[in-house]
Order: sequence, then C-alpha cells, then structure tokens
Amino acid sequence: MHYGDIITDNHLCSLLSEIRPDELYNLAAQSHVGASFECPEYTSLATGMGVLNILEAIKHFSPHTRMYQASTSELFGNAPAPQNELTKMDPQSPYACAKLFGYHMVKIYRKSYGMFACNGIAFNHESERRGVEFVTRKVTHAVASIVAGKQKELRLGNLEARRDWGYSPDYVKAMWMMLQQEKPDDFVIGTGVTHSILDLVNLAFGLVKLDPRKYVVVDDQFKRPADVNWLQADPAKANTVLGWHPTVSFEQLIKIMLEADLKAVK
Ligand code: GDP
Repeated sequence: MHYGDIITDNHLCSLLSEIRPDELYNLAAQSHVGASFECPEYTSLATGMGVLNILEAIKHFSPHTRMYQASTSELFGNAPAPQNELTKMDPQSPYACAKLFGYHMVKIYRKSYGMFACNGIAFNHESERRGVEFVTRKVTHAVASIVAGKQKELRLGNLEARRDWGYSPDYVKAMWMMLQQEKPDDFVIGTGVTHSILDLVNLAFGLVKLDPRKYVVVDDQFKRPADVNWLQADPAKANTVLGWHPTVSFEQLIKIMLEADLKAVK
C-alpha cells in the first residue's frame, strides 16, 4: 500500500517512477455532485487537475502504463437521452465540469503523446458498499432502518430525476476490458434502462411491503441548484466492441442493496 495525493504532483511522479505500473485506474475524485456546489474549488483540483497530474506523471516516468479514467454520465448533463459517445456534453455542476476537463485531457494526451489512456463514461453504478450520501443507498439504508424501528421518515430532494443504475462489479469488469483492447478508446458504460428516484423509492419500500407515502418527505435541502434530469445510456459500442453486457438489473440491484442493509441494521 502506498499513500499519495493526486492534488500534489511531486509525490505522484516519484510513485509512478518507483512502481511503473502496467495499468492505472484513476477512481480518485471528489465524487459527490451535490457537495461540488459547496466546494467547487477543491472539486476542480481533485476531480479535474488530479487527472492532469496523473497524465503528466505517466508521460514522464512510466510511459508504458495504460490508464483508465473514470469519466461519468454527468458529462452529458441535460443532453437528450439516450446518450452515447457522440452525444454533445452539457455539464450541469462543478463536478461535471471538472470531470469534463479530465475527459478532454485524456483525449489530448492520447492524441498528442500516443499514450494508452481511456475514458470510461460510466453511468451511475452502485452496490451495497455505496455511501449513504448517494440516493440508492440512502433509500435502502433508510428502508432497513424503518423496518428495524430506528428511523421514522426518509427526507429526499428531487424525485423526478431519472438515472441509469447498474451494479458496480459489472462496471469494474468493463474498466478492465477497456485496458485489454489493442487500441485505447472511450466507451459509454451503462445498462440502457432508466428509472426515476420515485421508481427507486416505490421498489425499495415495496420489497418490504411498506407504503412509501407514509415515510417519504420531500425536503428542499436535498435539491441541487441545478440537476440532471434524464440519464440513459446507449451502450451499443461497449456491447459490440468490448463484448460487455451488464448482468444485474435495476430490480436485482436494489434487492441486493436492501438485503445487505436489512442484515446490517438490526
Ligand atoms: P449522481 O447522479 O452522481 O448525482 O448520484 P446521486 O445518487 O447523488 O443522485 C442521483 C439523483 O438523485 C440526483 O438527481 C439527485 O438530485 C436525486 N436525489 C433526490 N434526493 C436525493 C438525496 O436525498 N440525496 C442524493 N444524493 N440525491 C438525491
């Protein structure tokens, strides 16, 4: 285990020259969209400049390293769905803007210096390890806490927004597959199926036979200054070029997460 900080490039450079890894997966970021409105400067440094620091360190100290950059469906913002690699990007948050900087830097370094660097434009991917500050886990954790008698209500923001949610292990496989290709490229990774936050709420409460109308309260505190309304992947390129297909549906995903929370919260 090595410790480092993608904001400071000196340490990154010495790590890269010491380790000279075959593959590098950059998943480091300030990754919460809502929090990026509260700390835009830090988000720009970690989520945006951090990518450039890694690219520079690879370029100078470990040019054979293949790099995966965790790009995001947030790049598309409110561009019409379904979104694919050719969709015009329209970021709606400081987080998305910082990620767009990283996304373009990867393309520029690939083209200019022949680096093997890929953007995975991943749609929302979740698991039982997701933090409760994200809406899927917030909901499954709250449902489990309500069942256990430890929580009385669930306060949420925008219930209309739609997301394309998949299971994280499937997405990690796609990341790895990208770096095994002959040539570096960018890929949209998502299921192609979209659901609203309200669908998520109804599904999770329905699984334990509770009526969400008795527990869910809309609270403006959880609404964002600008939100992304409709994300839905067109993963055709990943399907055909990588041979990648998701294995877990939205319904299965929420069941996996809820079952884990029901076990943990007793
Ligand atoms: P994101 O897509 O990366 O921003 O993932 P999130 O899970 O944080 O948010 C997904 C969507 O859920 C966004 O449109 C949020 O506005 C919406 N949402 C509604 N209520 C909440 C809430 O209480 N917490 C979070 N995190 N998101 C919420």
